[in-house]
Amino acid sequence: MNFDTSTEQDEFISKVNNACRNLRESEERAYLEEKLDDKLVPEFGKIGMLGCPISTKYGGLGYDILTYILALERIGEESSSMRTFFSAHTSIGQMVLQSWANEEQKKSHLSRTTDGRSVMGFALTEPEAGSDPSSMVSNYEDKGDHYVLSGKKHWIGNGTIANIITTYARDKVTGKISAFIVDMNSPGIHAVEMKHKLGLLTVKNAEISFHECKLPKENLLAMPGWGLSVAAGSIGVMRDCLTETVRHSKERKQHGSLLGKKQLIQHHISKIAVAVESSRWLTYRAASARQKLHDYVENMKIEDMDWQSKLNRKNLNYSMLRSEADRLATIAKFYASNAAFDAANRSVQIFGSYAYQKTARVARHFLDSRATTIYEGANEVLELKISADIIGEGFRSY
Ligand SMILES: Cc1cc2nc3c(=O)[nH]c(=O)nc-3n(C[C@H](O)[C@H](O)[C@H](O)COP(=O)(O)OP(=O)(O)OC[C@H]3O[C@@H](n4cnc5c(N)ncnc54)[C@H](O)[C@@H]3O)c2cc1C
Repeated sequence: MNFDTSTEQDEFISKVNNACRNLRESEERAYLEEKLDDKLVPEFGKIGMLGCPISTKYGGLGYDILTYILALERIGEESSSMRTFFSAHTSIGQMVLQSWANEEQKKSHLSRTTDGRSVMGFALTEPEAGSDPSSMVSNYEDKGDHYVLSGKKHWIGNGTIANIITTYARDKVTGKISAFIVDMNSPGIHAVEMKHKLGLLTVKNAEISFHECKLPKENLLAMPGWGLSVAAGSIGVMRDCLTETVRHSKERKQHGSLLGKKQLIQHHISKIAVAVESSRWLTYRAASARQKLHDYVENMKIEDMDWQSKLNRKNLNYSMLRSEADRLATIAKFYASNAAFDAANRSVQIFGSYAYQKTARVARHFLDSRATTIYEGANEVLELKISADIIGEGFRSY
């Protein structure tokens, strides 16, 4: 498998690299003042990052998934909050629309998200339905010419700044769960920012209430899940932990020699370095599997008008590509997010008291990466999913 990048990909990553320059200072300020710098997202908009893997037909750059993953890796190095913004806006926002929305839905919603007119979010979790979303109680009623949505979602990334979100609810009569595109300006929606978070301080997480919110019929959607962007951001976190700890251990002297000369410190550094490379392999490989699935779905759209009804488990080609993409994304997310938190923890240890202040980059990685083992698939559940995939569905224990 070849993960070499083209000149074109390198040029884009170099633009991402430039846009990342201001993130460093902003993250430091955000951790002290808990304020998001409004100018940062538009800066990424200028280089097209707001629609990096989205088709040029809808105003995106049309890059492949690996390029998007490499961009997130770089952004994650500077700011897990900004990487999380893109996870919500692009990975579980735009990419879901790109794959699953019909042409009319894409025309009216997707193009607005690539040029910065609309920010996206994804609202699945409820106070009583977290790692088990099937226990959700938010509901909708089919009123003939429209739907009425009621319920509460929480922890929704970009929740107070999103113009469009996708959300799930249960049919009040049949109990079937469906997905919807929701315009956040619709009457009956109330979003409140969640405060006092452990990390990810510039992500606008919100509790969103739907009070008999009227949705047009055409906002019904079909959709699956992701997780890969967390893996990519985790690699960025580990890369930065490595840079920071190597620098510090070459500068800090105790007991008569540099920390970098001490074998136990070298042990921590090796562990982080191995985790970076193994996470890269898992994540890029998962990106390649996701790309194959994406290409299959896009080809089918061209060849078959009735594509949506044929993308199900009975279609063996689709089913195999989908299972492989999901399986590899699950493994990559599970491994890389655990590894990133472990790397941040080791880095804090190497820095000692110098990392016990939020002004230290590794301290922020420690706080931010804690969330990555919880969101976009809680890691215990992912671990059980990985083994159930191998032993067989009959052994599913979650
Ligand atoms: C910073 C942040 C951002 C988020 N952003 C979003 C967002 O944009 N959109 C959204 O919809 N949600 C979002 N979430 C919510 C996130 O998806 C949920 O927190 C996650 O699904 C876990 O649900 P829970 O917190 O309710 O934990 P619970 O479901 O209560 O689980 C608690 C613990 O039990 C473990 N567990 C559960 N079942 C099993 C089992 N069978 N065996 C062993 N262990 C088990 C879990 O792994 C977890 O460690 C976000 C959360 C955070 C913290």
